[in-house]
Amino acid sequence: MAGGWAKDGAVSEQIEASISDELARLKQRKAPQGESLTFCAECDEEIPTARRLAIPGVKLCIDCMSERDTSQKMRAGINRRGSKDSQLK
Ligand SMILES: [Zn+2]
Repeated sequence: MAGGWAKDGAVSEQIEASISDELARLKQRKAPQGESLTFCAECDEEIPTARRLAIPGVKLCIDCMSERDTSQKMRAGINRRGSKDSQLK
C-alpha cells in the first residue's frame, strides 16, 4: 500500500511550519553582518535605533524589509508549492 494516510490539511500545515522555520533561518543567515545603516538603503528613511540594535548590520527600514519579505515569501511559495496552495486560500 502507498503511504497515503496523511491528510492534505496536515501536510500543508507541516509545510507552512517548515517554511516559516526556513524563512527565519534564512533571514538570520542572510542578515548582513557588520555595520548597520542609519538610513534605509532603499528609501533613505531613517532606521529606528532599536531596529538597528535588534538586527546587526540592518540595511533596510521596516517598510522595505517587510516588502522584501513578502515578495520573497510569495516567490518561495510559488516555486515550492505550485498552484495547489493558491487554491487553498
Ligand atoms: Zn526603506
